[in-house]
Amino acid sequence: MKRRDFTQMMLTLPLVFGAVSKAESLQRGGGKVIVIGAGASGLAAAQTLVAAGYTVQVLEGRDRIGGRTWTSQYWADAPLDMGASWIHGIEKNPISALADKFGAKRVHTDEENLIVYGPNGQALSDDRVESIEERCEKILKRARKEADKSDDDISLQDAIAATLNLKGLSKEERQQLDFYINNTIEQDYAGAASELSAHYYDDQGELDGGDEMFVDGYKTIVDGLAKGLDIRLKQVVKQISYGRGGVTVTTSQGTFTADKVVVTLPLGVLKKNAVQFVPPLPEQKKTAISLLGMGVLDKLYLRFPKVFWPTKYDWLGYIDEQKGRWSGWVNCYKLTKQPILLGFNSADFAKETEKWSDKDIINSGMAVLKKIYGNSIPAPTDAQITRWAADPFTFGSYSFMGVGASPKTHEQMAKPVGDTLFFAGEATHKVHPGTVHGAYLSGLRAAREIIG
Ligand SMILES: Cc1cc2nc3c(=O)[nH]c(=O)nc-3n(C[C@H](O)[C@H](O)[C@H](O)COP(=O)(O)OP(=O)(O)OC[C@H]3O[C@@H](n4cnc5c(N)ncnc54)[C@H](O)[C@@H]3O)c2cc1C
Repeated sequence: MKRRDFTQMMLTLPLVFGAVSKAESLQRGGGKVIVIGAGASGLAAAQTLVAAGYTVQVLEGRDRIGGRTWTSQYWADAPLDMGASWIHGIEKNPISALADKFGAKRVHTDEENLIVYGPNGQALSDDRVESIEERCEKILKRARKEADKSDDDISLQDAIAATLNLKGLSKEERQQLDFYINNTIEQDYAGAASELSAHYYDDQGELDGGDEMFVDGYKTIVDGLAKGLDIRLKQVVKQISYGRGGVTVTTSQGTFTADKVVVTLPLGVLKKNAVQFVPPLPEQKKTAISLLGMGVLDKLYLRFPKVFWPTKYDWLGYIDEQKGRWSGWVNCYKLTKQPILLGFNSADFAKETEKWSDKDIINSGMAVLKKIYGNSIPAPTDAQITRWAADPFTFGSYSFMGVGASPKTHEQMAKPVGDTLFFAGEATHKVHPGTVHGAYLSGLRAAREIIG
């Protein structure tokens, strides 16, 4: 309902950093800027400012760059992304342009290239999957229509309950609806249906061209973006004092001063008040921070001695009796040529599993794989597990539209405070929140606000 023409918006921004001409940069250049955070948004802002002649220091709390784009090289023959994996929609996507620029090898994946297994482990026919999808889409359409009758927002779950007698559904129908909601909505937006805004949960622009993954991981993009920048690692920002005279940033290691600051702290960090703003942030900014939700999407990579799943599919779906339990797996053989599967969990189930031991997480994933492929499948030789909600440098995976949030909320997130405090990061992007390209574009925007 509220999809907008984001092409217009894309055209108003240079798509790749450094798009400021040399003459322009000499004319405007000057001033010192601190960028907090070396994720996609911070690196984009820093490169654009440097190209415009500013002196830029990037302060990063972790001992690595990239933030929520993080390629693990724990398995030397298979670099794997623990955070973002895909370029979502490769056409007119600035990350595609960067990938070309940095010579990043990519593999196309298709979420329709999917096989779905039922709770008994049996594969469903394509017709069956299609009819489940059609039925669930109708349910969601009705729920949206009902919710839109009122200006007062409710959760997606309440909107569904208002238009559907959930108790009247058979056990099978209920499991299928839960699977559809988890696999297509909660995994995309990382929030639970009980937390997502019925009005705006899917209010994101979509780019065409399908999805691509990086053979060598998002690291190629991050390393390319970071080239030549002054990045200080292990500088955990504790306080940002700002005012007419400029800005003072206090970190775990010292104090830094500048004329202006670009804050790319993730929404989860802002929600936890982990960094003190002096003076405190304006009320409108605080309201925006509380209205958006910080979602959870976690990954379990399992490495096996051999492949035992059908490698012609990109995705393996699983309908469980418990909502969200290992509902989506990616066949990583296509990407790595190694016998590796990636299990996703999101929202409520992800929050629950983060509390478990690694062993329990692996056993839980394996129980599902055994149900589908039989007890004789080999045990995994190794695993890699993420816990994004517990990560003190993000406290979650990415933002979602909480009940009461609207596109205006993103505008408030992005709005500068005075002429010293500027904001970037995925949660500040109105059209593409929750993505690397949204984060990247937000960094370009914040830099342009400073450059003027
Ligand atoms: C599991 C998962 C899967 C995803 N999948 C995709 C995908 O396939 N495609 C896609 O487009 N997007 C995906 N995303 C979303 C994408 O990763 C993010 O939207 C994007 O990377 C955010 O970039 P950012 O610059 O806004 O934030 P970040 O990358 O988080 O950068 C912020 C930086 O600030 C630093 N920081 C935090 N606190 C402090 C502090 N106190 N002091 C100093 N530094 C601090 C952090 O360490 C971090 O480096 C995924 C995310 C996750 C977690």
